[in-house]
Formats: sequence, structure tokens, C-alpha cells
Amino acid sequence: MGSYLLDKMPENKALRAFTESAPVGIFSTDCNGKTLYVNPCWCKLSGLSFDDAMGDGWMKAVHPDDLPWLKAGWEESVAVRQTSSTEYRFLRSDGSVVWVMGNSTPQFNASGDLTGYIGTITDITEKKKMLKDLLAAKEKAEESDRLKTSFLNNISHEIRTPLNAITGFCAFLSDPDLSHEKRESFTKIIIESSDQLLFIITDIINIAAIESGHEKVCEKEFNLNAMIKMVTGRFASRAREQYNLLRHQTFLPDEEAEIFTDRTKLVQILSNLLNNAVKFTHKGKIDLGYCLKDGNLEFYVKDTGIGIPDNLKNEIFHIFRQVESSDNRNFGGSGLGLSISKAYVEMLGGRIWVDSEPGRGAAFYFTIPYKKHEPGT
Ligand code: ADP
Repeated sequence: MGSYLLDKMPENKALRAFTESAPVGIFSTDCNGKTLYVNPCWCKLSGLSFDDAMGDGWMKAVHPDDLPWLKAGWEESVAVRQTSSTEYRFLRSDGSVVWVMGNSTPQFNASGDLTGYIGTITDITEKKKMLKDLLAAKEKAEESDRLKTSFLNNISHEIRTPLNAITGFCAFLSDPDLSHEKRESFTKIIIESSDQLLFIITDIINIAAIESGHEKVCEKEFNLNAMIKMVTGRFASRAREQYNLLRHQTFLPDEEAEIFTDRTKLVQILSNLLNNAVKFTHKGKIDLGYCLKDGNLEFYVKDTGIGIPDNLKNEIFHIFRQVESSDNRNFGGSGLGLSISKAYVEMLGGRIWVDSEPGRGAAFYFTIPYKKHEPGT
């Protein structure tokens, strides 16, 4: 082992011991940059043996994506005899990747002639991972901040619109000369705006309860078919206004449709899905129903509306997520409905998903366990 560094070592036992036990990788090369010595830590980091690392052998351990630029950089440093400092990866034979920070310095003898290079490699894998996690967390925080700002903009619009309608048309109603038809039409607007306002405020209260962990499941027995008819009825006039055909289908005979679950939550989930189906469909069809599958009730709300892009099919179940951006809005909405629905479905012991063909419609499905009675009765 005719290394420059090792040549000096026999006289300096302390230097040898220090090099052999150092917690960083150490290497030395000749003046052409060919490796003459590596310490045990270098071998551990690269996964190469001492002999394999000699000459240009060390390059075998460098990650193939990093090798071209690292090799070129190293040859350039050697050509101009300068120090170098680079971060790169080793790809070990077991497939593991180790990030290292490599530093090297040219060595000169007493007459000023170049004798070679010595350098270190330090394991920075953990640091790199932390940096990656930190960047991901930062991006997530920024995304969440952006979504919250867009939510606040949307929500103020969503609240002001019906509120303005209510106050404005209430003022018109006080006109004693108002015709009967106008009075009826204004009253209808006030009622619809109040419903809209109630819907949005209920969503805000619900999401606050879910986020704070205060939402509880409150199960009771009720007739599922009657409930499906009631919910469909609530959306009948809005569906008509949008020229939509709204239909419902029940799977169990009425007398067998008594189930035991949280009725309020089920009504809310179906209402959120129907509300979206009506909102995003014009001159189309909307179908609501359920069937029994593997001991679960599987509900569906299908529409022939605008549909959902493939890349957003999971995203839309996240709070504040909407397909439309806040500066390009045709449909309105708070971005809360589906995240509430998902949280409720999961609290009831089921799951929710969507199938959609953009431009042709969306079909939302969710399951809940089929329980006929309160357990133990
Ligand atoms: P909101 O409807 O108030 O915006 P939601 O959480 O209910 O909030 O829905 C999130 C987004 O998912 C909607 O803004 C819309 O982009 C998309 N979406 C939901 N339901 C449908 C549907 N039936 N058809 C098309 N897009 C839908």
C-alpha cells in the first residue's frame, strides 16, 4: 500500500489510529486523483472493500445519476489542483442509498510540488431526509394556507349573497302596493336564500365539531326508505329549476327497511351529495338509491353533470378542496361538503369514493354497515 498518507503512518501510530477509527470517511489519492487509501469508515459508507476502491474503483459505488457530473467535476478539480466540496450519493450493492458530503484538498511537499489529494466523506443521509421532510411540510403548510385564504374568500361570498338577498327582498316586501305575484316570488327568494344560508352555516358548524373531535355518533332506529324519499323531496324543486330529472330507488321493501344508525349524519351525507349533484348538473339526470352488498348498505348518488378530472378524484374529499380555483368560479360552494361527508361515513364505519368521467357525470358511492336493530335487542 504505497499511499502518500500511509507512507507517513508507520512513524505516526496516533495518526493511523485516528484515521482507522475516524467516524468520517477518509481517502487519499496520487497527484492524478487515483485513489491510494481509504479508511474503514469510507468502506462502510460506500459498501466497497479497500481493494475495490483503489484507482478509479471508488466510482463503482457512486449512484449512476451522480457519476457523470461527479467524475467530470473531480477531473476538473485535479486538473486545476484545487479544493473541492460536493454532495453526492453512493448506491450500495444491497440497494441502499447513502448521501455524502465529499471534501478534498491538494497536498504539496516542502518544495511546493503536488503530492496528491486527501479528503473526507461525511454521511449526510439523515440531514438530506430531514431537509426533504421539512420541504414537504413547508409545501403542505403553504398549500393549506392558500386553501384557507381561498376558503375565506369563498365563504364570505357564499354568506353575503343569500344574506343580501334576504335583507333586500325583505325591504321590498314592506311595500304595501306590491302585487300578489311579486310578493310570492320575493317570499320564495327569501326562503331559498335562508335555506342556502342555513346549509352553509350548518357545514361550518359541522366541520368545526369534526375538527375539534367533538362530533359524536348518535344511533337510533328509523325507516331508511322514508328517509330517502324525504331527502329526495327536499331537492325536487331545485332539481326542476336546473331542468334535471331527479329519481330515487329503494332496495329493501318498506317493511324491511328499518335500520339502526345515525339518521342525522346519513341525511347530511346524502344531502351534501345531492346538493353537489344538482349544482353541477344542468338538463341531466340525478339518481339516488342504495343496495345491500356483503352485509353493508351501499348508497349511490349519480349525476350526468360536468364530472371530475381524474387527478382530483381523491383530492376533493379534502377540506377546502374544489376543482374550480377561487379566481375562476361558476358554481360557488365552500369546499366543506365532501370532507364532512367523508368524516361522517368513516364515523359510521364505512367508506366513500367517486367514479367519474369528466364531462359525462359523477357517481358517488358510500357504504355503512347494515344494522337492523340496536345491538343486543
Ligand atoms: P363545494 O361543493 O361546496 O365546493 P364539496 O366539498 O361538496 O364543496 O365539493 C368539493 C368539490 O368537488 C366541488 O367544489 C367540485 O369541484 C367537486 N364536486 C363535488 N361533487 C361533484 C359533482 N357531483 N360533480 C362535479 N364535481 C363535483
